[in-house]
Amino acid sequence: MLSMDGVHKWFGGFHALDDCSLEVSQGEKIVICGPSGSGKSTLIRCINAIERHDGGRITFSGVSLDDGREAVQARKGIGMVFQQFNLFPHLTVLDNVMLAPMLVKRQAPTPSRQQALALLERVRIVEQANKYPGQLSGGQQQRVAIARALALQPQLMLFDEPTSALDPEMVGEVLEAMQELAREGMTMIVVTHEMGFARQVADRVIFMEAGRIVEVQPPDRFFDNPQSERTRAFLGKIL
Ligand code: ATP
Ligand code: MG
Repeated sequence: MLSMDGVHKWFGGFHALDDCSLEVSQGEKIVICGPSGSGKSTLIRCINAIERHDGGRITFSGVSLDDGREAVQARKGIGMVFQQFNLFPHLTVLDNVMLAPMLVKRQAPTPSRQQALALLERVRIVEQANKYPGQLSGGQQQRVAIARALALQPQLMLFDEPTSALDPEMVGEVLEAMQELAREGMTMIVVTHEMGFARQVADRVIFMEAGRIVEVQPPDRFFDNPQSERTRAFLGKIL
């Protein structure tokens, strides 16, 4: 479904992604971890074509993301959830979730509303539909952000540290919504340091350092017998 082959990204003279290759098949769940500045966000931003990569190839569902115009089309099939929720503060929860299908897919208001309410039900927050994001807890806002990303019916969902801005007591409810999505068969790439989630949900765990993919392993191997000294040192710090 997604293929990255020898991808590079430069910010001026800084080599943020250095020869990154990754194949993700349909339904697969990938967790990415690694130290701050290692390129995790840059990697998934390149997959979503928020950043343009400078070398190598990325294809998504057979469409090349190397070309700007095709990338715009292809990224409609990719949903993204950010650390800071990024909801529209001046719109209600319901409108936040209705907006994209109406703008991007020219969907009519009535089916958009029905779909939005169903999605809010799915992340267990439909009772907050008429509130504004500022009136919700962080965990609730993040669940709205997940519903909003799902409204475009993506084939692939990207999460960039979705729980790291949350108070600890709200982490669980967001991870639960993500776990449910995983159970339903969604293809997911998740940047997170929630290693319990990685163990339970991931098919493969990736460790990045200094712009490189250092290690890719199934979770049991990754945690119990990492091959790279760097992975071992990193796990030693966070576990
Ligand atoms: P964190 O865990 O802190 O989120 P990360 O692994 O997600 O880190 P990235 O955000 O991908 O790291 O950044 C990788 C490197 O690229 C960092 O050194 C960062 O300063 C640099 N970088 C990222 N975006 C830009 C940009 N727009 N311009 C210049 N440098 C950037
Ligand atoms: Mg990041």
